[in-house]
Amino acid sequence: MNRIDIIIIGGGVSGLLCARELSNSGKRVVLLERQALGKESSWAGGGILSPLNPWRTPEPITELCRWSQTTYPHLAKELHASTGIDPEWLPSGLIFLDCREIEVAKAWADRRATRYESMAINDIERIEPNICPAADYSLFLPDIAQVRNPRLLRALRTDLQHRGVELLEQHPVDQINIERGRAVSVVVNHQTFTAQDYVVTTGAWSGLLASNSGLPELPIMPVKGEMLIFNAPQGLLKHMVLSEGRYLIPRKDGKILAGSTIENAQFNKGITEAAFEALHAFATSLLPALRQSNIEKHWAGLRPGSSNGIPTIGPHPDVSNLYFNCGHFRNGFVMAPASARLLANHVLQQTPIVSPEPYLPETKM
Ligand SMILES: Cc1cc2nc3c(=O)[nH]c(=O)nc-3n(C[C@H](O)[C@H](O)[C@H](O)COP(=O)(O)OP(=O)(O)OC[C@H]3O[C@@H](n4cnc5c(N)ncnc54)[C@H](O)[C@@H]3O)c2cc1C
Repeated sequence: MNRIDIIIIGGGVSGLLCARELSNSGKRVVLLERQALGKESSWAGGGILSPLNPWRTPEPITELCRWSQTTYPHLAKELHASTGIDPEWLPSGLIFLDCREIEVAKAWADRRATRYESMAINDIERIEPNICPAADYSLFLPDIAQVRNPRLLRALRTDLQHRGVELLEQHPVDQINIERGRAVSVVVNHQTFTAQDYVVTTGAWSGLLASNSGLPELPIMPVKGEMLIFNAPQGLLKHMVLSEGRYLIPRKDGKILAGSTIENAQFNKGITEAAFEALHAFATSLLPALRQSNIEKHWAGLRPGSSNGIPTIGPHPDVSNLYFNCGHFRNGFVMAPASARLLANHVLQQTPIVSPEPYLPETKM
C-alpha cells in the first residue's frame, strides 16, 4: 500500500466528514470501519440540526452547532451536486409545544437574533391542523433544519470515493499500537497499517478503543435511543414538533419519524416492546391521524454519550499524533461539520474555527 498520511478509525458521520476535510487538504487518507460505513448512531439519528433545548445548551456545544448550521445548506448542495444523492437538507422549522420555559427561550432567541414566533393553540392549528397541542404556550423556531441521515451518509461515502479516499469496511481496529508517545500502527485482519497521524471517530466505542490501546479510558458511554418511522401520507405534518422531550420529524416524502427513548443499556442495541408502545402512544396522541399509518421500521442506535454532551476533539495529551473526535451524544449530527473542521485544524496546525480548549481530550480524562 502507498504511504498513508492519516488513518481514520470509524466511519460514522464524524469519520466521514473528517476524511473529507483532511483529503481536501491534499492528505492521503484511509478510513477503517469495522462493519459497513454509516450504520451505527449516525444512521439511527433523527437529523434535527439543533439541540432539543437550545437555550439550555452549554456554550461549547452551541458554538459548534452555530458553525455547522450555516455550513449545512452548502454541504448538502455540494454533496448533491457531486453525487446525485440529495441529503434532503430541509428548513422545516421546529415547534416546541407546551414550552414551559418560553420566557427563557425568547430571551435566548432575542440575544442571538434568532427568528421565533410564540404561539397559542389556534396559531398551531393554523400551521399544523392535524396535531393536538395541549397548552397555550408554544414556541416556533422557523429556521431549524433537518437532514435525512441515511442519505447524507450515502452521499458522503460516494463523494469520498470520487475523491479517491480509501474506505475499508469490515476492518475492525482492536487497538492502536503506541511507542514512546507516538501512535505507530494498527493491525487489522493480519494487515499492518501505518500513517503519520491517527484519528479516532469510533462514536460510543471510543472509550473502549482508548483503553484497549493502553490509554486512560475516555468517559464516553453508549446511550441507547429507539425510533419509529411511520409510512404517513405526504402533508400530514409540515414542521418538526417537540413535546415533553419527544419529537416528530416529517421527511420530504411524507414519512414521519417518532423519537426517541434514552436508556443506558451498555452496548445492547436490541429494540423493545416497551419503547415501541411509548413512542407509538406519543406519536398517535399528538398526531391522531398516524393511527391510520403503518410503521415501516423500529430501530435503536447507541449515542456516544459524554457527561455534559461536549465532544472530545483534539490531540491526545500523551500521544502527539493521535487525535479524537467523539462523544457528541445527542447532537452529533448537528455538530458534525464543525467538529470535523476543528479536528482538521488540529491535525493541519491551522487557526481553529472556535476556541479549542473546551473539547481537548485532557479536559475529559
Ligand atoms: C435515536 C437517536 C436519535 C438522534 N437524533 C439526533 C438528532 O436529531 N440530531 C443530532 O445532531 N444528533 C442526533 N443523534 C446523535 C447522533 O446520531 C450521534 O451523536 C452521531 O451520529 C455520532 O456520530 P459518530 O460518527 O461519532 O458515531 P457513529 O455513527 O456511531 O460511528 C462510529 C463508527 O465507528 C465504528 N467503529 C466502532 N469501533 C470501531 C473499531 N474498533 N474499528 C473500526 N471501526 C469502529 C462503528 O462501527 C461506527 O460505524 C441521535 C442519535 C440516536 C441514537
